[in-house]
Order: sequence, then C-alpha cells, then structure tokens
Amino acid sequence: MEVGFIHTENFSQYNFGSGHPLTPKRIELTYDLMKAYNLFDNSNLKLITPRNATEEEVLRIHKTSYLTKLKELNNIGGNSYQAFPKFGLGPGDNPIFSGMYDAAMAVCGASLTAADYILEEKNTRSFNITGGLHHAMPEMASGFCLLNDVAVAIQHILDKSPKGTKIMYLDVDCHHGDGVQWIFYDRSDVLTLSFHQDGRTIFPGSGALEENGKGEGEGYSLNVPLLPGTIDSVYINIFEKILPSVMDAYRPDYLVCQLGVDTHFSDPITNLGLSTTGHEIIFKDILKNVPKYSNNKFLGLGGGGYNIGVVARSWTMFLAELLGTKISDPLPEKWFELFKEKWGFSDEEPPVVLRDQNWYIEEKQLKNPYWENELEAHADEIVKKYEEELIPLIKNSQ
Ligand SMILES: [Zn+2]
Repeated sequence: MEVGFIHTENFSQYNFGSGHPLTPKRIELTYDLMKAYNLFDNSNLKLITPRNATEEEVLRIHKTSYLTKLKELNNIGGNSYQAFPKFGLGPGDNPIFSGMYDAAMAVCGASLTAADYILEEKNTRSFNITGGLHHAMPEMASGFCLLNDVAVAIQHILDKSPKGTKIMYLDVDCHHGDGVQWIFYDRSDVLTLSFHQDGRTIFPGSGALEENGKGEGEGYSLNVPLLPGTIDSVYINIFEKILPSVMDAYRPDYLVCQLGVDTHFSDPITNLGLSTTGHEIIFKDILKNVPKYSNNKFLGLGGGGYNIGVVARSWTMFLAELLGTKISDPLPEKWFELFKEKWGFSDEEPPVVLRDQNWYIEEKQLKNPYWENELEAHADEIVKKYEEELIPLIKNSQ
C-alpha cells in the first residue's frame, strides 16, 4: 500500500526562536532518522513536495481579521517582543517572528497536500510530520499553533467529498485537541476523540469527559482525560477498549490522526508516563483499525513532543508501521552523529535504541505500590462511561 510522505526543506521556517520548545530541529532530526533507516528507499513510499495553501482554504476555518494580522507581521524582520493578546501572539507560547504567516501557511499547505493525496488515490495513507497544530483557534494562535492545519485539512476533505462524508479525528497528543474540538463542536460530520493528560493538571485545561458536543454535534466530541503519570499498560488497555468501539459505532470515511508524542515519560513540559515502546503499540493499534473501520483512508499528522530523541524515534517507528516494514532497535550510527552535531548532549542523555525501557514506571511503583491501582480505577471509570453512555449515543444517531 502506498504511503505519501510530505517533505520540504522550507519546514524549518516555522521557528519561534531559540529556547522555544517547538524547535524545527525536531522535524530535521526526525527526517534524518527516517533517512538513516533507508525508509525513503522503500518502494511503497512516495516523497511529496507540498503545495501552498490558498487563503480561501484557510479562511474556511480562520477569521479574516486574524489572517490579516499574521500577514501584517510577516515582514517585521527578525523576532519581535510586540504582543497582540487578542490574537494570542506575543512573548511566551507564540512569539512573533519574521515570516510567520508564510511558515504557518506552509504547514497548512503540507497538511492539505497530504489530504489531497488520500482524496485522489484509493486505499492510501499519508503523513505530514510538521502538521497537527491542534490548539489554534479560528481567531487566534494558541499553544505554539498559529493556524489549525488539522481543521483546514478536515474541512478540505469534506469540501471535496460527496455530501454525507464523515471524518473521525483521533488525537493522542498529551494535550487536549481543543482547537479541533471547538471548531467542530456543533457538527456530526466530524467526530473528535482526544486522549490526553487531564486538563485540570495541564494546558489548555479543557478536554473533560463531559465535553460531548452540542446541538447537531451532541455526542460527537469525545475525551479521555488521563491522570498524570499514566503508564503504557494502563494507556494501552483503555485505548484498545475505546478506539475500536468508537470507530465501529461511527464508521468514518476517513481517519485523521494527530500523533503528538509528548506523552513520553521524559517529555520536559508534560506529565504522562509512556515509553517509545508504548508509542509503537499505540501506532500499531491505530493502523490495525484503519482497514476495518475507516475505509482504508488515513491521514497522519505530527503534533507535540519536546524531547527531540523521542520525537525522532517515535515518528520514525510510525512511518515504518505505515510502510509495513521492520526497523532494528539500535539506532543507525550515522544518525547518532547528526544528533550530536545538530542538537548536542548538553542537557539530555542521547538515545541509543528505538524502543526504550520504562524505568520511570519501576521508580514510581517502588515509591507508591498503590499507584497503578489508582490509575487503573480511573481508566475503568472512563471505559464504563463510554460503554454505557457515549458509544450507544453515537450508535443510536447513525
Ligand atoms: Zn502537546
């Protein structure tokens, strides 16, 4: 099965400046690792240079006033300490930088290219690692996200498809996929399902179990808020119970997925406890369900992840899964050199293998033997709510 992989050197222009967690080095080193594993030589992979997004496409989701502001700031030259709180721009999460409009439009263009690819070809999958900017709102930037490429791509697929087409959006980033949820909150043609760290403990604060959509969209916004410290076994158990039953109840024509990997135990800005070994199982689970429940159509997008070694390893494993190929555990030596050169080992241990051992779990368990029981009890409660209430609601309205 063919996989379209979107890439251009231009991706490095989405850069909030030094010290910002969303450094373009994440994308560069991921690409380098995929290349070092020879994944781009795979006969099923098609490397695609992205097209630009048109303003018209972006305005299907975003407000003109906000887009005009981004365009105005595009030519400021260098970085600026100006702030426009109304638009979510300024020092902090979304600093203003030269070329920011072009950079945000390029990410949208890449996700639209990935969408075009699965629209045009039968039984295809595509992957844009720069996309997945799920926090952006129609009228403002939020959480490192200037434009919501996810919502733009989803709307584009719907605009190009017959009436009645349904899209499911799955978000496994550590943060709630709030922008996408609120944009489609009152619609039933897009079902959103987000697994994330409980919003009471992390940005953006939303994503409670009770946020289920409104009006026509009632029952089509779903959330799985997990306790800080949730480990592989608990996450995978709840994921394997909820994902297939939601997909089976909704039967989407397309699955669009945000693959944030900031759920890792070593992530510097979050508190879930997954390992890259856990990520690989989650990826396998997602792809297993695509032919069964979503018409064999899949669009994968990147997302968060602020430990660079994790981002590169986990997304490389995802691409290997998409291609149906196995990759060896020890990291290729040539990539190791690139990692040292581009990133340095200043404040973190270099990764040496793809699939890490979860020492984090052992440490936590030693400190608190009841901890796993607590995590499991919380997960069981969520599963119960899905089984008894949320899934029957989707089924009854189909
Ligand atoms: Zn995130």
